[in-house]
Amino acid sequence: MFKKYLYIILFIVAIIGLSYVQYQYFRIGLNLAGTQFNENMGAAAKDIKRELQGKNELTFLVGSAISKNDLSFRLSMDSIQDASIYFMDEFLQDKLLSHGIKTGYGFSLYEKDSAAYLSSKDSFTNEDKLLRYPIILEGYLPDLLGKRLTLELQFENVNRYFLSQLNGLTIPSIIFLFIIIFVIVWVYRAFYLQMNLITTTNEFINNLTHELKTPVFTIGVATKILEEKGREDEKELISMIRKQVDKLKGQIDKVLELGSIEGKRGFINRKEVDLKPLLSEFSSNFEQVSKLENFEFTYDLKGASYEVLADVYHLENAINSLLENARKYSRERAVINLRAFKEGKYLMIEVRDSGIGISADDLKKIFDKYYRVSDGDLHSVKGYGLGLNYVKRIVHLHKGKIEVKSAVNEGSTFVLKIPLLKND
Ligand code: ADP
Repeated sequence: MFKKYLYIILFIVAIIGLSYVQYQYFRIGLNLAGTQFNENMGAAAKDIKRELQGKNELTFLVGSAISKNDLSFRLSMDSIQDASIYFMDEFLQDKLLSHGIKTGYGFSLYEKDSAAYLSSKDSFTNEDKLLRYPIILEGYLPDLLGKRLTLELQFENVNRYFLSQLNGLTIPSIIFLFIIIFVIVWVYRAFYLQMNLITTTNEFINNLTHELKTPVFTIGVATKILEEKGREDEKELISMIRKQVDKLKGQIDKVLELGSIEGKRGFINRKEVDLKPLLSEFSSNFEQVSKLENFEFTYDLKGASYEVLADVYHLENAINSLLENARKYSRERAVINLRAFKEGKYLMIEVRDSGIGISADDLKKIFDKYYRVSDGDLHSVKGYGLGLNYVKRIVHLHKGKIEVKSAVNEGSTFVLKIPLLKND
């Protein structure tokens, strides 16, 4: 659960981090665009200043318009004024374009502290935010008027212009960021749905096998009694039923174990439970089996309750595996003891037998998948070598530990340590 949130938090942090980095790049981009604009403007201003220095058609027309001299033209003063605004605009536009400046602009030609002589017709909505580039004119025009003349270029919304220049980068980066978010959310959703499906399927398998166990156990006990007390001519039939029931019982136990081999996690579903009543019922059932099957089983469950976080199906199955092993790996009549008690923050479940025992070398390997201790060249007892591996995995998924003590011919003791919800 914690890991799930950790992934989500990491993902959100990464996206915020990535967006912040993008934003910083974007700001750097804007600054660069600004610097480039200033450089281009500087070069354009130099060009404009140089071309307006001498006497040419444009400067003559503008000169006539601002000195209100209509002698050279057969036109009204207003028309001369309009024509000079028009040609000045054409001239400036051409200069700006040739320096890579494509944004809208306005201009104003004025003498310091007096009304403008000429102004472009563009009206700006927000005069305060205008970016102004004054060019102090030299040569023909100021000389004609005998005054200092300034040609001011004005730009509005330069930031929007810079943005439009960066659009080639910002829009794709925003799109890619959204694609990343979309894909990750989509994958996560698919994964989550899949996990839910696995959990539900496993819960179903666990429930089903558990429900099957009780009737199979009862049929087993009943046939055993019939085998002993039934009519002679029926015995063969009864023994056939019993064999099949035993087989079925073995298969049911394996279903749970095999299910756990496929998926690493997700097959276990822990809930808060009191294991005491479950262990009592389980032990008393096993005691009945021991009487019928002629082996010795004793149990001792200390304390009033065992509050733990557990998947009861799998934990019960794990204990069952230990008990079955204790039974299987005994040469003579098996003597098995099950004990449960609390020790510190753990519930200890101990299965002790007086069987054949395990050598120190084998002890290191018995929890490996498919490992079986060989008995000479043959295996005299049937098995897949999966039981103890399963038990170990279940115990680890319960955040517990498994310990084993054994010596050849001296029996074995397996201890499961399952964390308690409350310490005593
Ligand atoms: P399986 O019983 O199917 O062979 P397990 O994983 O349960 O597989 O056990 C692995 C091996 O450990 C067994 O083959 C057996 O040799 C040994 N073993 C397990 N439990 C005991 C026991 N209680 N006493 C002696 N040997 C055991």
